[in-house]
Amino acid sequence: MSRIVYVNGEYLPEEEAKVSVFDRGFLFADGVYEVTSVLGGKLLDFEGHARRLRRSLDELDMPTPEAMDDLLEIHRELVARNSIVDGMVYLQITRGAPADRDFAFPGAEVPPTLVLFTQSKPGLAESPAAERGIRVISIPDIRWGRRDIKTVQLLYPSMGKMMAKAAGADDAWMIEDGAVTEGTSNNAYIVKGGKIITRNLGTEILHGITRAAVLRFAREAQMEVEERPFTLAEAQEADEAFITSASTFVMPVVAIDDATLGDGTPGPVARRLREIYLDESRKTAI
Ligand code: PMP
Repeated sequence: MSRIVYVNGEYLPEEEAKVSVFDRGFLFADGVYEVTSVLGGKLLDFEGHARRLRRSLDELDMPTPEAMDDLLEIHRELVARNSIVDGMVYLQITRGAPADRDFAFPGAEVPPTLVLFTQSKPGLAESPAAERGIRVISIPDIRWGRRDIKTVQLLYPSMGKMMAKAAGADDAWMIEDGAVTEGTSNNAYIVKGGKIITRNLGTEILHGITRAAVLRFAREAQMEVEERPFTLAEAQEADEAFITSASTFVMPVVAIDDATLGDGTPGPVARRLREIYLDESRKTAI
């Protein structure tokens, strides 16, 4: 049975789904996206992702698709039609497909393109990597200045993951002006003396939906949280480190470049936050 995807109002087998070669997502990376995780057939933090999507569209003056109010229903329909138990729903909106390639934004006559598809990942929450912890390398952050907008310009993050792979690591943390901004596709944290430190929100990083939830749960559990930039050296001397994202939840980091953190195994704060995050998000999944 082939996967059913959603394109501009239609549910289609993936082989029949088409987007124009003039689509601005394809030609200019003029598009935004969201990834929502599914556990036990239910969506995690759907409202948070929908809210950030609206903000991304607003910040780029991108038109809103007609189906904007039906996004929850479309997500659920795709999960059901593709029998997704654990996995994710990917959503992308682009500034549509005008008649010709032109840098200027098209007029209101060109509707945005809306595409959604699912990816099945059985056992998504039972990750062997989370038991082991991941190793990251540091790379310079050479991305554009509006990282708070979730655009599909993911070439540098892809290159960063390839650099990590070539170095025998799992992922990369990006450094700007001596401080860690974030991971290639996740937010970055260190733990020192029981205190959780993560970069404050701004245009330098994506405002992670998982980040917001994890910091809320941490504060509710009386853990101390400090939102500020931290240096690579500070991270390498930390007791623990971890990353968060919709698809990895809370993932312990056990090495940064040549520095092993603690005893080289996932630390207690990261382990506990992963457990709390998974428990709490399952409770509120829809
Ligand atoms: N930062 C970047 C650069 C990302 O690509 C992502 C995931 N898309 C995140 C952080 C984490 O965001 P979220 O928790 O909303 O998945």
